Amino acid sequence: MRAKSVELRAVGKQFGEVEAVKPLDLSVAPGEFLTLLGPSGCGKTTLLRMIAGLERVSQGRISVGEADVTALLPNRRDISIMFQDYALFPHKSVSDNIGYGLKMRGLARAERDRASADWLSRIGLAEYGGRFPGQLSGGQRQRVALARALILEPGVLLLDEPLGALDANLRRQLQGELKRMHRDVGLTFIAVTHDQEEALTMSDRIAVMRDGRIEQTGTPREIYDRPATEFVARFIGRCNVVEGRAGNFDGRALEVETGSLGRIRAHAAEARAQGSRVSVAVRPEAIMPSAEGALFTVEDTVFAGGSVRLDLRAADGSRIEAESPRGAPVPAGGEKLRVHVPDLAATVLAQTS
Ligand code: ATP
Repeated sequence: MRAKSVELRAVGKQFGEVEAVKPLDLSVAPGEFLTLLGPSGCGKTTLLRMIAGLERVSQGRISVGEADVTALLPNRRDISIMFQDYALFPHKSVSDNIGYGLKMRGLARAERDRASADWLSRIGLAEYGGRFPGQLSGGQRQRVALARALILEPGVLLLDEPLGALDANLRRQLQGELKRMHRDVGLTFIAVTHDQEEALTMSDRIAVMRDGRIEQTGTPREIYDRPATEFVARFIGRCNVVEGRAGNFDGRALEVETGSLGRIRAHAAEARAQGSRVSVAVRPEAIMPSAEGALFTVEDTVFAGGSVRLDLRAADGSRIEAESPRGAPVPAGGEKLRVHVPDLAATVLAQTS
């Protein structure tokens, strides 16, 4: 298959007074799996629908590969879309559902059936072609919907909350499957989700959206380890945001004098004025016990499966959340604990938030 790039230049959308998507740029490389992630109402679905051609842009240009598709109908864009509810035809067989797009293209039945059978075996449902969608499990329906979109060999596949209709266990299983499928077909995937775990596990790159804007774009690791803003830090995983005063910068790390955690050397993109106020994101798992560290009182301990969460209170009354790995001795409530944050384990946040 031939994966295509997608380029958005100053693309925006107004619905009357509502600015659902503020003019934004986004580049997706051929073969990349990019996820638009954000809370309800942030504009991710509107953005996906504009790429698909189901919604007209209020401004800006959209290109797929070399072609400017801004004014083209959805079926002229070399894009397929898989909807959250899968939109399978209930009265058509699984095989006919998968072959539907080829029928629309005028292919004869024998050819369609051959292609459907091929896709049925690729998705592990070779024996299921004669069934109806109602006779499949949620996960099987999801695979059929995927095959129906991919059989058209589009340059780009859009996925609208691809696992949204499934229960938590199945979601987790299919996240891996979808990622494998992406690797197999080598196409460009652009997905929408509000589920951060789903975005982290499936994507090559994530664009975190908020209020119609892209707040940060990066690999799952960059987004998790180096959140740019307080919003991203708190939206993805658990995170402490600690206030402090800026000190020296050595090109990578900024010294920050915090009230509760003492002096830490946090990752930063640039220097800050000496003594100015900065916010630092500190993941619970980055906080380490240390005999010379800052002193806290353990307020509470919460068993969370793979680890134990520690609610810690500093002398100045501020609270932070730390983590005690499974197997490590868990301090009791009321106990004193000294902790520190290793160099570059925390991240200085942008000044905007
Ligand atoms: P969700 O996860 O809940 O689907 P979302 O991030 O996908 O949310 P959008 O559906 O893109 O968000 O909506 C963004 C904003 O645009 C919201 O404020 C929404 O109410 C508004 N909006 C979306 N579609 C329309 C429409 N057809 N007419 C008017 N306002 C709309």
